[in-house]
Amino acid sequence: MMNQGNGFLPVGDVVKGCRMHCPKCGKPLTRTGATWTCMNGDMPLSQRLNDLFEARFIIGSDVRKPTEMSYRVGVTWYCPGCGIAMDEADNNIVCSHCGGMLNDVIWDLIELHPHKKSE
Ligand SMILES: [Zn+2]
Ligand SMILES: [Zn+2]
Repeated sequence: MMNQGNGFLPVGDVVKGCRMHCPKCGKPLTRTGATWTCMNGDMPLSQRLNDLFEARFIIGSDVRKPTEMSYRVGVTWYCPGCGIAMDEADNNIVCSHCGGMLNDVIWDLIELHPHKKSE
């Protein structure tokens, strides 16, 4: 069995000791090099999404309110910060716990981040 604990993150890393969760399956992500990866779905985050998630859900430096979605996706998304299912309401995909939103990255997640189906 692999160590499922906190892992060993590089000292000085700004996200040291923090957890990130997969927006598609809610499982904890694994820090691989410069970005986070969902081992469950074989889905590494792009650098852009990685930086945005860290700023918004871990560091809290990104507090912009993304524009509302113009369409409904109809699947469940998980908060990268909290790991809980997000609500899709009023064209926003929002976490009821931390208030973080995913509106502006849904396209990115669907088109550029294929996620393997879990067994
Ligand atoms: Zn995943
Ligand atoms: Zn959250």
